[in-house]
Amino acid sequence: MSGHPVRLDQFMARANAAYYTQRDPFADFITAPEISQVFGELLGAWAATVWQMMGSPSRVMLVEAGPGRGTLMADMLRLIGRVLPALHAAADVMLVETSPTLRTVQRDALAGRTARPVRWCDTLADVPEYGPFILVANEFLDALPIRQFVRRAPAWRERAVDGLTFAEIDVPAAPDAEPLARAVPEGEVVELCEPALALARDLGARLARGTGAALFIDYGYDAPRWGESLQALYQGKPAWPLDHPGHADLTAHVDFRAFRLAAMAAGALTQGAVMQGAFLGALGLGARVARLSAGLSPEDAGRL
Ligand code: SAH
Repeated sequence: MSGHPVRLDQFMARANAAYYTQRDPFADFITAPEISQVFGELLGAWAATVWQMMGSPSRVMLVEAGPGRGTLMADMLRLIGRVLPALHAAADVMLVETSPTLRTVQRDALAGRTARPVRWCDTLADVPEYGPFILVANEFLDALPIRQFVRRAPAWRERAVDGLTFAEIDVPAAPDAEPLARAVPEGEVVELCEPALALARDLGARLARGTGAALFIDYGYDAPRWGESLQALYQGKPAWPLDHPGHADLTAHVDFRAFRLAAMAAGALTQGAVMQGAFLGALGLGARVARLSAGLSPEDAGRL
């Protein structure tokens, strides 16, 4: 009991900033690019298609938000270099990453793989706007801090963290946001990820002014919904989110509907969300796995 409740998003922001600065945060969870090279190859094929649809510009920013170990970008660049060398030569790689530890890991993963030096930014807002861009982000939005509002008709209360327990605090002025306009039953929780919505607005405005495409892959939902999704992984296992701050990975499901509406309101065209399996299948997942399996033992092919 501290008696000084901290708003949940502030707690989550601090805890995750510390978490991602550790030596190897990826000991606790595994992501798609770390499971198989095919994931990054298919996103490389997506980027190649998008670049051609843009008219094959001679310079393009290839941006990744939250690149982790750099595996996804490395796999994308390998595929692009093989099938579309002109895009490899055109691409200025930019990584949006706040963790100094992971920036070092990413630098090593991409050493010698890009036509020009890789650049890093702290936020998307810092990514320059000198030309067309293609952005990908896998399991990035789910790491951004959320606020949780509890319906206490006729108003809202907000979840805060007080030591090892949750507390509810008053909300002097509830944000004007679509999720809070939903008809939510008494006592239910609505989550609001303000940094994700700010990013959607920024991206939407960029897309309205210029040329670009952005692809976000994450756990989430795409319908007006309520309920809490905050979760923690500590040493590879689910844990109480308030234990081990800075040593557990905190995530929340992404509200794709709110994200999409914010980008649209700022001027972007949006598509989706679609299920990852359907998306990767349309990009040729089955054919690529069959091709890679040809040279493998039955066990390895089965794993793949
Ligand atoms: N995309 C990778 C890593 C996902 S983990 C993969 O699929 O394996 C989340 C990533 O987002 C990490 O690289 C983390 O350091 C980064 N990150 C988390 N919060 C961030 C923020 N607010 N700004 C920029 N990067 C952030």
